[in-house]
Amino acid sequence: MAEKILIVEDEQNIAELLRLYLEREGLETVIANDGERGVAEFERVRPDLVLLDIMLPGLDGWGVLRKIRAQADTPVIMLTAKGETFDKVTGLEMGADDYITKPFDMKEVVARIRAVLRRYGGGESGDSKRRLVFDKLIIDMESFVLTVDGKPVDIPPKEMELLYHLALSPNRVYTRNQLLDEVWGFDYFGDSRTVDVHIKRLREKLEGVSDKWSLKTVWGVGYKFELKNDGE
Ligand code: CA
Repeated sequence: MAEKILIVEDEQNIAELLRLYLEREGLETVIANDGERGVAEFERVRPDLVLLDIMLPGLDGWGVLRKIRAQADTPVIMLTAKGETFDKVTGLEMGADDYITKPFDMKEVVARIRAVLRRYGGGESGDSKRRLVFDKLIIDMESFVLTVDGKPVDIPPKEMELLYHLALSPNRVYTRNQLLDEVWGFDYFGDSRTVDVHIKRLREKLEGVSDKWSLKTVWGVGYKFELKNDGE
């Protein structure tokens, strides 16, 4: 099945050029010419990846990215104009996966798309992801049971959800605010120390269990579930 790419770009000629190229590569495309339509199309087609221009009329690319991240982990590649400063840390904090500067080489665009889709292991069904299995660690959200080194471990729901959220996208860095939004929800009036406390308790349960993975602090940014790459 062809992967669906949503192109959110207000410059018609660039959008059409991307469509032409991606379809020639066997990818399916959907175009949205402004931010609001971008969000609407995202919700309608549930694409496998989004190419997202930053400078858009109305809701800009960052606004679109925020709305996408509030509901899904779909990979997003930002399109930035030459000369436009793109802050990598801000991009990362906002949940972008990569960015490409215009004017771009179409071969490079396709290569980046393929790389990001590969990283996400495209095509995995949603159900299989409710149970994450790592070395000496099973996070089962169906039965809500955490198994560490073969034994079930008592764990409060929020700690379980936080661990699951991090482990669902190994090596992806999340900021404390992202984790608050995505695990506790936008309505939660806690502060980022809530995340630190939960991470600390998770570490007490998981410390030293395996050297294949760990809960890492990314200084100045946030946290990630680090998976050592030996399977590739
Ligand atoms: Ca634009």
